[in-house]
Amino acid sequence: MENSTTANSTTTANSTTTANSTTTANSTTTASATAISQRDAAKLTVNLIASTPNAKAITFTAIRRCYSGLDGDKLFVEAKNKVDSDNGRLFNLVYNENHLSTFEHILFTFTIDGLSRAALAQLTRHRIGFSYSVQSQRYVRNTTSSKNGGFKFSVPDLDAEKQSIISATNKVCQEAYDKLVELGAKPEDARSVIPQDATTSLVLSCNLRALLDFCGKRTKAKGAQSEISALSDEMMRLVIEKEPWIGELGRG
Ligand SMILES: Cc1cc2nc3c(=O)[nH]c(=O)nc-3n(C[C@H](O)[C@H](O)[C@H](O)COP(=O)(O)OP(=O)(O)OC[C@H]3O[C@@H](n4cnc5c(N)ncnc54)[C@H](O)[C@@H]3O)c2cc1C
Repeated sequence: MENSTTANSTTTANSTTTANSTTTANSTTTASATAISQRDAAKLTVNLIASTPNAKAITFTAIRRCYSGLDGDKLFVEAKNKVDSDNGRLFNLVYNENHLSTFEHILFTFTIDGLSRAALAQLTRHRIGFSYSVQSQRYVRNTTSSKNGGFKFSVPDLDAEKQSIISATNKVCQEAYDKLVELGAKPEDARSVIPQDATTSLVLSCNLRALLDFCGKRTKAKGAQSEISALSDEMMRLVIEKEPWIGELGRG
């Protein structure tokens, strides 16, 4: 990824529960539970921090490599000159034929914050073409008195009564974690009491083929859970913003 460019795209997915939506969800929420939700609620935030330069021309070169007698350097120069006049015909041809190894040369790197450990478990099932670097619960101390101020939680989009049950449980778990660390437990042992909705941060890199495969599987339309589909939608939105031709795949 040494040659990658910075996309400078910063965005926040809307489908996770935010502090604001938590407070307005239901007027029957108790004052203390509302306060807990406001304090603890995490926002899923995704940034596209780098991507392969000349992505379209490189993919075009890879596709044409399969059918051209030209030397590689000439092929790439020609691809850079011709790629914008192709109008996606060739891209759609290989996409529809599943000739998808040609999409593996393009890499994207994201930072992700505010993803629950439950969704992380779903995400990291995607093994092929994905690289992950995840914040350690062994080494990062998340006590209430630490500079992080304790764990943040990805509270599902439920009614206020259900959210208050989750928030109260999160509070008890945080207190147990704090107590264990105070008694001398290492964070790697104290984390045993932390629930699955505690959020984490990671850096994720993936190639275009792997991203398309991931987004195809983790769409709400195919029964994926809301948090992972919000992540997948946001990753694809950022990629299409950077490389609009990718949004045209499958439409020709
Ligand atoms: C809606 C939904 C519900 C799910 N529910 C569950 C669940 O209840 N329990 C559960 O355990 N998982 C569940 N999963 C996870 C699912 O089984 C996959 O592990 C996950 O989606 C990753 O997909 P993948 O293996 O295709 O991805 P990758 O690991 O990225 O693999 C990509 C592709 O490479 C090929 N490949 C990779 N590894 C192998 C291999 N060892 N052998 C042959 N081909 C391989 C396959 O073609 C595969 O599609 C669910 C997924 C979804 C989307």
